[in-house]
Amino acid sequence: MATKKKENKPLKALFAASEVVPFSKTGGLADVSGSLPIALSKLGTDIRVITPLYRQKTDIKKTRPHSKVTVEMNDKKIVVDIRQAEFPNTTIPCLFVDYPEYFDREELYSYPDDAERFALFSKAVYAHLLAEGDYDIFHGNDWQTGPVFYFIKSRGIKCRSLLTIHNLQYQGLFAPEMIEAAGLDKSLFYPGGPVEYYGKLGYMKTGITFADAVNTVSEGYAKEIQTPEYGEGLEGVLKEKGVVGILNGIDTEVWNPAADKHLAATYNYCDLSGKKKDKKDLQKKFGLPAEDDTPLIGIISRLADQKGFDILLESFDEIMSFPIQIVLLGTGQEIYHKEFTKMNKKYKQKFGLELGFNNALAHQIEAGSDFFLMPSRFEPCGLNQMYSLRYGTVPVVRATGGLADTIIDIDHNPIVGNGFSFEEYKGEALVDAVKRAVACYNRKDGWKDIIVRIMTADISVEASARKYLEVYHCLENSPAKKEAAVI
Ligand code: ADP
Repeated sequence: MATKKKENKPLKALFAASEVVPFSKTGGLADVSGSLPIALSKLGTDIRVITPLYRQKTDIKKTRPHSKVTVEMNDKKIVVDIRQAEFPNTTIPCLFVDYPEYFDREELYSYPDDAERFALFSKAVYAHLLAEGDYDIFHGNDWQTGPVFYFIKSRGIKCRSLLTIHNLQYQGLFAPEMIEAAGLDKSLFYPGGPVEYYGKLGYMKTGITFADAVNTVSEGYAKEIQTPEYGEGLEGVLKEKGVVGILNGIDTEVWNPAADKHLAATYNYCDLSGKKKDKKDLQKKFGLPAEDDTPLIGIISRLADQKGFDILLESFDEIMSFPIQIVLLGTGQEIYHKEFTKMNKKYKQKFGLELGFNNALAHQIEAGSDFFLMPSRFEPCGLNQMYSLRYGTVPVVRATGGLADTIIDIDHNPIVGNGFSFEEYKGEALVDAVKRAVACYNRKDGWKDIIVRIMTADISVEASARKYLEVYHCLENSPAKKEAAVI
């Protein structure tokens, strides 16, 4: 009986991420961290999420004390509060590493002391793992959790570890002198060594080296990052390690046009009249003429080089010569703020611009647009094209990473096609895809079928969670679990 009971015990997992919806967000990592653990819990995993307690959006009053952990930073012992809250409408705990000196700030990242901030976070996460003592799986995300993988391996706790890479471009690279503050052993730093990246200390590389398994958020990106073109210098390490690709899914409750509180009108695929109202509402919000028949293209994005704005700007005049409207919501690199502001002045009647981060407006753009444009240079998974499918908004994408895995070109495959895509990273290729999209819209014939097809596709986080659970089980059942590895 005792064995049976043990067999039936759910897997206990700790999911660590530097941003988690609804508590904090700058991009897709937050969306995944707020939905995947909940889906894993529904599949029977005993899961907890752990994240820093930032100033941003966190309702501090709703958290309560959970425990205290002691970590060492530059020869000083620091006591850190761990607080707890539940994800809304669930009993799933989210733990918060509460260290105001590092996290009670305006932004989440890009401070000169990021090395120490996320070293402290990693140390607190490890201290929590140690204090609980019975976690089967540690699931860390991106560079901010890199050092935890070393702590687990070197200090020999019996917990298997999975690193998920959401974006390899952000690696957490710091001066080599930070190695002690990071809690890593000095002997690990040498050219080509386990934590060294071209003369710098790399938190992402540390995670990759010491994790038991590594995955990324689409099969396409998993292959791409093992090549020099997309591997950001880590392709060799990743190839040796092996990378599993698991496509992200979306939270179909948060992103649901039939019950979305942010919209002027809700709708579903049986009755799309609400979508027409949302288009009108969106045009009004951006001061564009309320033209029902003019195809409206939405863009919501971090304004970063990764997202393909150089080729969009390069071809902007030509695209604006089409009978279309564009609305863009985004924030990021100054150069794009400047260039799009210029375009906004030039094309007042056709191009609406909102520079900032606005979740409600993001929902309204998904609903009110006819097309959603993502011309990314690279895209690990991309969530907005999936939100667009759900909202009956046809994606126009560059075929890379997760975009290539999720979007099939309608002209190439009219039976199952769900968007428009182009291969070459060039303005002309983007223009051609937009042209084909607009032509399809104007033909009217078959348009409704396309909308129904994309709105009914299964892109939910549940499928993704099942695959993660498989990886957890593989790790749990691998022989190495029996004895904790000590390096
Ligand atoms: P990434 O993580 O690279 O930024 P994703 O497509 O995976 O790209 O996820 C981006 C997420 O962030 C989506 O939920 C998107 O709606 C949201 N988002 C991006 N920029 C903004 C913005 N300016 N305002 C509101 N939401 C935004």
